[in-house]
Amino acid sequence: MLAGYAVHAEHSRGRRFPEPPHPYRNDFQRDRDRVIHARAFRRLEDKTQVFTRRYSDHFRNRLTHTIEVAQITRTVAGALSLNVDLAEALALVHDLGHPPFGHAGEKALDAAMRAHGLFFDHNLHALRIVEDFEQRYAAFRGLNLTFEVREGIIKHSRDYDAAKHPELAEYLLDQRPPLEAQLIDLTDEIGYNTADLDDGYEAHLLTLEQIRAGVPVFEQFFREVEQTYPNAPEKLKFNETLKKVFNRLTGDLITNTQTRLKQSSIETLEDVRRHEERVAAFSPAAEAERKQIKDFLYENLYYSASLSEEKDDAERIISELFVFWMERPSALPHYYQEKAQQESLPRVVCDYIAGMTDHFIIEQYEKHCGKES
Ligand code: MG
Repeated sequence: MLAGYAVHAEHSRGRRFPEPPHPYRNDFQRDRDRVIHARAFRRLEDKTQVFTRRYSDHFRNRLTHTIEVAQITRTVAGALSLNVDLAEALALVHDLGHPPFGHAGEKALDAAMRAHGLFFDHNLHALRIVEDFEQRYAAFRGLNLTFEVREGIIKHSRDYDAAKHPELAEYLLDQRPPLEAQLIDLTDEIGYNTADLDDGYEAHLLTLEQIRAGVPVFEQFFREVEQTYPNAPEKLKFNETLKKVFNRLTGDLITNTQTRLKQSSIETLEDVRRHEERVAAFSPAAEAERKQIKDFLYENLYYSASLSEEKDDAERIISELFVFWMERPSALPHYYQEKAQQESLPRVVCDYIAGMTDHFIIEQYEKHCGKES
């Protein structure tokens, strides 16, 4: 049973190109499946989340991160009687627009674009992928996703100023997105905050002592685990503790969002859309814990000396290749040379680079810039 404030598939605002209904899948299930079968989705397998394969091949990449976010999102959406199919589709699509090399790659690509008075934004890029770049159907370009999935791609993690983005006018920028989309930013945080502690610890870049000292909620649960399993190996105590942190944040997101729905008497999707702020949220206590984990990870992992060399490599590869293709557009694949007839060259070069996997861009760098990465 869906709540009144959930998105009901039969009330979808529909697709750009109307299609006959499917005999046994609703529109959001079809959208979820279209995302899974997209080429850009498969490429997530070889895009860095935080750790490259140099560390280990069992750490998260952007694909396994995406699958984890989808799992958390399904749980939370189900507990809130939201539309699980839509929420799952949004989770699976949420990182589709990310360039190679994680956040370092995104920063470098944005910097390269800013030199031409443009910018790179991964949400806007994801929208271009599903609207235009994916070519699977004879009747239309892109995946022809429903309005609600396209809206969620744009609005799940931030608000766009309608005056600055007239091209997004159709996405109701003056309204909040449905709860299914609001969840994604928070389930994404639960996913990577816990996963990055896990991978950071496994990579020996973070020690147990360091995490216990720097993350109070971890320390609190670790003490409980030590009482229950005093003789367990350290790694399993770590796992048990992280599981509790994970459940704490997930449970809090569910109960606190329920409380906020009641407090604001939100009963319909229209109430969600018209509410002055987003309704899905952690409680102040859990929000503080979330922020402590995140700050800890920035200080001790993301900005650590151990990862900085790879980040510098990533920035160099992207900025040098960008300049290379700007100066030698004839070296671009034919398809992109044709696109450059209609669109500005920096945008075309940016689209080409953003779609690449880590492996492919390193290959391109060695080929065109003639250096080992
Ligand atoms: Mg993510």
